[in-house]
Amino acid sequence: MKAGKLIVLTGPSGVGKGTLVRSLLNRHQELYLSVSVTTRQPREGEIEGKHYYFVSRSRFEEMVEAGELAEWAEFAGNFYGTPYFSIKQGIDEGKWVILEIELEGARQIRNKFPEALRVFILPPSWEELERRLRSRGQDSESAIARRLLRAKEEIEAAGEFDFQVINDDLDVALQRLESLLFLEVDPP
Ligand code: 5GP
Repeated sequence: MKAGKLIVLTGPSGVGKGTLVRSLLNRHQELYLSVSVTTRQPREGEIEGKHYYFVSRSRFEEMVEAGELAEWAEFAGNFYGTPYFSIKQGIDEGKWVILEIELEGARQIRNKFPEALRVFILPPSWEELERRLRSRGQDSESAIARRLLRAKEEIEAAGEFDFQVINDDLDVALQRLESLLFLEVDPP
């Protein structure tokens, strides 16, 4: 396995990126998930330093000013960014680093690290995405509306990515992701 690989996973809110990433991490010790900073409020059960580093808006701005973020973006009213230290931590452990980030951040990473493997996760249909987003029960109606609006823009940009994976059946999507990551071939 080659060293120092950077993997970007992007896809609309509610598409199931989190579940896919968790399954990948459970199955492959060589993978490392970069922990982002965000100004979003923690959801129930989210742990500081594990799911995110939760920071104030002014702290986030300080990090941007100090050049501490490899990429950052505003998403549905909050800021999100990848600190360099988070990427470095994975690399120092000799692992492949996964960034689970939205579209604007993925574009910035493409410019900074053109060798990164970039995969876009698609829902089986628009209706299914909407259903998943609502059934999570984690966000307010206005947050869901903002996320759906953004989802449309993101899906339209799916073609910018190296590969697209449809998350219809979790196991099938996982297998396809694994073949992209580990075999670097397009499976039938
Ligand atoms: P959520 O609020 O649901 O945790 O995340 C909202 C969106 O922000 C998701 O699409 C997620 O992939 C994205 N995101 C999480 N961390 C980062 C980050 O560090 N940078 C960018 N650009 N997007 C992020």
